[in-house]
Amino acid sequence: MIITLKPGTTEEGIKEVVKKIKKLGFTPHISKGKERTIIGVIGENAIRSRETFESMFIVESITPITKPYKLVSREFKKEKTIIKIKELKIGGEEVVVMAGPCAVENKEMLIKTAKKVKEAGAKVLRGGAFKPRTSPYSFQGLGEEGLRYLKEVSKITNLPVVTEAMDPRQVELVSRYADIIQIGARNMQNFDLLKEVGKINKPVLLKRGMASTIKEFLMSAEYILSSGNKKVILCERGIRTFEEETRFTLDLSAVSLIKNLTHLPIIVDPSHATGRRDLVISMSIAAIAAGSDGLIIEVHPNPQEALSDGFQSLALEEFSTLMQKLYPITQAVGRKV
Ligand code: PEP
Ligand code: MN
Repeated sequence: MIITLKPGTTEEGIKEVVKKIKKLGFTPHISKGKERTIIGVIGENAIRSRETFESMFIVESITPITKPYKLVSREFKKEKTIIKIKELKIGGEEVVVMAGPCAVENKEMLIKTAKKVKEAGAKVLRGGAFKPRTSPYSFQGLGEEGLRYLKEVSKITNLPVVTEAMDPRQVELVSRYADIIQIGARNMQNFDLLKEVGKINKPVLLKRGMASTIKEFLMSAEYILSSGNKKVILCERGIRTFEEETRFTLDLSAVSLIKNLTHLPIIVDPSHATGRRDLVISMSIAAIAAGSDGLIIEVHPNPQEALSDGFQSLALEEFSTLMQKLYPITQAVGRKV
């Protein structure tokens, strides 16, 4: 539930409420506005303690949070969350495009790709160093060597970097190199991993599990926020359906719906969602029309030779074409790229 305190409530008054909340075994989340302070009381069945607070003189009103996810809900926070990485803002007016190879294969291909995607308008460099592959015999990524290349190329190009951590034991290492930590679709419900990234002070890109409902997706984000990290970017990357022509089915209705349900930014990954290079541009345009705050796109200097996901990776020139096609649609929806 949310407790709204009367305007002019003193620090002493706030402390008194916080003490009561803690005594009941719940966690207080304080948000001080210009006029009023509101305190979120988070915990299972917190609303049952409503009367304890209603009787307090300084309490103006009490509003239940009806959704099972609390901190991520629009009921808890009405204003959109904007995540800042240096000068970059994710969740603001600008549609942020992240691009790069599926996996970091070597330094040369990373530099080449990074320079080209930057020139075309990408604002974040992607690239996996730890790869969650379906087959144990497929390329598993370069590990820490890949992270080092990402950091080096980030310094050269001044592009922040997003890369995946697959295990709670990797979080500390990955966060030393990356600007945004990615949690992959297969790990969306790895709760220990979510709690671990919840303890760090770096943005997290949380990808939707391929067989997860919107509610489960938002509950996973709730794990990260409730562990202390409020900087979560959601990513719709396609779900499993009966359709076999595409790798997954891009759930664009989820994007529009999620924007109503949560204050967190959401981006779209049309590369993994479709698994097909020929659909990436049209689905990117559709994602922006649906309200996406950004895109994450796989790009490779030579997709035919890629060690992973070549069939869905755009060649460098194709990525420039994509960016050009994004300008009119971002303008049409009152945003910029
Ligand atoms: C990725 O973005 O590198 C990736 C593996 O995607 P997903 O977790 O969505 O399958
Ligand atoms: Mn990939």
